Amino acid sequence: MFDEKDSSAGFATRILGVLGYSRRALTLVWTTSRTLTFTLAILTLVAGIFPAVIAYIGQLIVDGVLDAMSSTTPDRARVLWLVALEAIVVIAVAASQRGISASQSLLRALLGQRVNVMILEKALTLQLSHFEDSEFYDKLTQARREASSRPLSLVNRTFALVQNAISLISYAVLLFTFSPWAVVILLFAGLPSFFAEAKFSGDAFRLFRWRSPETRMQMYLETVIAREDGVKEVKLFQLGPRLLQRYRDIFEKLFVEDRRLTLRRDGWGFVFGLLSTTAFYGAYVWVVSTAINGEISLGAMTMYLVLFRQGQSAVAASLSAISGMYEDNLYLSNLYDYLEQPVLTRGGDAKKGPDPSRGIEFRNVSFTYPGSNARAVDNVSFQIRPGESLALVGENGSGKTTLIKLLTRLYEPTKGCLMLDGLELHKWDVEALRQRIGVIFQDFGRYQFTVGENIGAGDVRYIDDEKRWAKAAEAGMAAPFIADMPDGYQTQLGRWFKGGRELSGGQWQRIALSRVFMRSDADILVLDEPTAAMDAASEAAIFDHFRSQSHNKMTILISHRFSTVRAADQIIVLHDGAIVEQGSHESLLELDGQYAHLFKLQAKGYQ
Ligand code: ADP
Repeated sequence: MFDEKDSSAGFATRILGVLGYSRRALTLVWTTSRTLTFTLAILTLVAGIFPAVIAYIGQLIVDGVLDAMSSTTPDRARVLWLVALEAIVVIAVAASQRGISASQSLLRALLGQRVNVMILEKALTLQLSHFEDSEFYDKLTQARREASSRPLSLVNRTFALVQNAISLISYAVLLFTFSPWAVVILLFAGLPSFFAEAKFSGDAFRLFRWRSPETRMQMYLETVIAREDGVKEVKLFQLGPRLLQRYRDIFEKLFVEDRRLTLRRDGWGFVFGLLSTTAFYGAYVWVVSTAINGEISLGAMTMYLVLFRQGQSAVAASLSAISGMYEDNLYLSNLYDYLEQPVLTRGGDAKKGPDPSRGIEFRNVSFTYPGSNARAVDNVSFQIRPGESLALVGENGSGKTTLIKLLTRLYEPTKGCLMLDGLELHKWDVEALRQRIGVIFQDFGRYQFTVGENIGAGDVRYIDDEKRWAKAAEAGMAAPFIADMPDGYQTQLGRWFKGGRELSGGQWQRIALSRVFMRSDADILVLDEPTAAMDAASEAAIFDHFRSQSHNKMTILISHRFSTVRAADQIIVLHDGAIVEQGSHESLLELDGQYAHLFKLQAKGYQ
């Protein structure tokens, strides 16, 4: 049942090693609010010392009463004063405990926010590939789930430990007058439960880590079953019961493990707890017999018993604080793993290149996605000069979007190089580079913000600029339907928030297009199938407008509609990541290859 593989010395070192995050957690809490941390520390001290004071006054009261009973001139006033004094100390303890819990609540809120902001700030520095890596994603979810409560818990436990340690020392000082051995018994009776606790905390943490993929699947199932974007298919394909069953199965599996751990934890907790109880009653017998022998006063006996009982619970509380700290440390190691994930500091601070007339150049660029063995882009070369347009054509999965991701530096090429204005892309300052690019991907963002913000998002500098929204919406052909909406540009989109409106696929695309038009100073415009959900007439109108806006700009266009593609200066046909044909519409028709074939096929469809 209790398979202790480590030697206890090794185990103890491991516990000490893992406590290394405590210092960082303390710093984190201290820098979050000095006042609150300081208040917490002072109140903890008070709450630590006063219980022993109460026990001491208790002794004085009992002995005072006994004195009074045996005296002919009883000193009532003194005893009553002592009772009043005890009441005052008890009130002080109660006040400090309230104060502790208030400071803790406030700190918890501040700290939760701080850690969440840290997690999100880190997320902003990560690369796209991090989010696509399931292992890393695990770290992120784990960090988010647990870590905001753990630092405070660690600090609370540290303070609880200090508080109990102070109480214990004060009890020990008083108990020492009875016998040093009593102190020894007090301290050691709790140790076995402590080691058991620490071991089970470690087990619980390992369980938590291992099962993270399953927990994530559960979270995902919740989203699919209970969120608007999943609901349609779940209902119509009758997936509900099946998904719910999967959800239940995961719980069953996890619960079996949980139950085993809980039962073992509590079973051993009880067994080791018995040990402490035995020690306590042993000491009880000892103190009582000493009192019967007349070696100590009745008051002293009461005090020693109180000290022993409270001392024992202080030992138990300290040890459980330590094992809790161990557990918190394990969880915090997760948070710091995530926060310290190295991010490639992508060098380059160039804000312009030596020869702007050279535009964009891809030179023998190849790219393989991490974890994949096929090339998504295979030895691709082309050039787009200012004022030129390029259309990418190819079946799904031929690498069109990947080319755009390389251009926008969401990924770095595995081989070859990309140049902009005659300077290698990686030498550019990322911000300066992205400032120049206006891009919409097929899976553009559908933000649950207002219409205006959805458009304004195209250029954060002007995210609240209504005049620019209107201009961009005009260009993206979104203005007419926005005008019909109840609150115009202030209409909330999406269904998550009150009064939110849902748009059709084509309407969303117009919003996304308008977003690109917000970026009026970008000179590289990329449209990745932005008009697939629109009717042909709207698409033609949008591209007319697009062309009229884009002299001197470089444009890249991905579309399956040849009516749109044919107007580009240069057309590239991709297959399995490689270029198979390249040229103008006329030259490709003349070549009579794949492009000509597909073009004719589509033209026939329209006849
Ligand atoms: P297209 O835009 O032409 O439809 P993509 O550039 O999206 O094609 O994809 C090219 C290839 O790269 C496909 O085989 C696809 O499976 C693969 N791929 C796309 N995105 C990823 C990714 N994030 N991780 C791994 N492979 C990917």
